[in-house]
Amino acid sequence: MALIVHKYGGTSMGSTERIANVAKRVAKWHRAGHQMVVVPSAMSGETNRLLGLAKELAPAKTTAAYDRELDMIASTGEQVSVGLLSIALQAEGLEAVSFSGWQVPIKTNSAHTKARIESIDDARVRAELANGKVVIITGFQGVDANNNITTLGRGGSDTSAVAVAAAMKADECLIYTDVDGVYTTDPRVVEDARRLTRISFEEMLEMASLGSKVLQIRSVEFAGKYRVPMRVLSSFTPWDIDINEEAKSGTLITFEDEDNMEQAVVSGIAFNRDEAKVSLLGVPDTPGIAFRILGSVADANIDVDMIIQNLSKDGLTDFSFTVHRNDFAKTVDLLKEKVAGELGAKEVTGDAKICKVSVVGIGMRSHAGVASKMFRCLSEEGINIQMISTSEIKISVVIDEKYMELAVRALHRAFDLDQEIAADKV
Ligand code: ADP
Ligand code: ASP
Ligand code: MG
Repeated sequence: MALIVHKYGGTSMGSTERIANVAKRVAKWHRAGHQMVVVPSAMSGETNRLLGLAKELAPAKTTAAYDRELDMIASTGEQVSVGLLSIALQAEGLEAVSFSGWQVPIKTNSAHTKARIESIDDARVRAELANGKVVIITGFQGVDANNNITTLGRGGSDTSAVAVAAAMKADECLIYTDVDGVYTTDPRVVEDARRLTRISFEEMLEMASLGSKVLQIRSVEFAGKYRVPMRVLSSFTPWDIDINEEAKSGTLITFEDEDNMEQAVVSGIAFNRDEAKVSLLGVPDTPGIAFRILGSVADANIDVDMIIQNLSKDGLTDFSFTVHRNDFAKTVDLLKEKVAGELGAKEVTGDAKICKVSVVGIGMRSHAGVASKMFRCLSEEGINIQMISTSEIKISVVIDEKYMELAVRALHRAFDLDQEIAADKV
């Protein structure tokens, strides 16, 4: 008998019919002799709808207390899901019980709307499992030290599921979603994208951090830290397919010693439309300018991603960086009001219509030439690169948003990601 955690995303929970289907699948696993913990998301569209209601009343965040209330509102989506799934399981003839985050409890810090899980007490869940029940726990939410409800950031149910699996030392965490695994890139953008039968933890971490929303990055971090066996698979296969076949389907996140894995040089392409570029032009090039610019931005709690400082000319330089698009206006205002004058900069400009496209692969460690191939491919498509950043296993570029799909498709082709890798390399 194994302890298995299933996570079902919003589309998989999207209607009562789909929830009944989820219940049938979970019942199949329970009847096969496994202890089952299930972590569902809110029904698709529900979190957006709930947050939209708040926006109707106050379009912009007014005070810090606003985020607390957003969590109070958004967390109800998952509460509805667990209750419905528990009833659907009971209709299947199983015993089931649902818990909100605070009832487990899943304890988090107090960073409302992007809280981090700090601990999970599994005693209550274990007791219910020992009674033969299927336990259903809300995704996306927890409770802080002052009993405030918190949420874990968009896509956070993945993290809830992996954290529960880690805390309970589950045998496996299965992430059921609306695609049948992790692909070389988003299959909704590139038709020829290929499903990977497995992907290294490090590559998955990069893909998630660079914008592939198939898994929330913190779920991958948890899986890595606690070595949680994890698989991404489809909730849209017939619920009654053979359980052994289902258990091998989708994409496995592996922790194997990557040096022993034969790898394609580039495994995947990620993209992110959520960033915006801000530039300070004509800044006197003196020691400490990066600190003074970025220090002010950090003090305003704004995260910075890529940074570029140009070569200086006549003692002046241009300084650009990217921030989340939601922070764009705030950053430009901050630079105009507080920083530009003080530093004697000539101008503050910005562009919210950019995107970041990245190629990812652990094979890059041992192969040169990936960057030049990427840049050649983009130049052949006439796409101008505005910023570049690299790490050991990824290269990212910032380009005009309108070329995003073109760039992703061209790079997918240039790196042969549409081709099957020889069997000995899979
Ligand atoms: P869920 O509601 O199940 O959590 P999400 O919408 O959060 O589902 O994530 C699944 C979606 O992620 C897919 O529908 C797909 O469009 C997108 N996606 C982005 N990159 C990838 C990728 N490399 N492989 C698979 N899916 C991807
Ligand atoms: N319901 C939350 C969201 O829409 C969490 C999740 O689906 O993972 O972001
Ligand atoms: Mg998701």
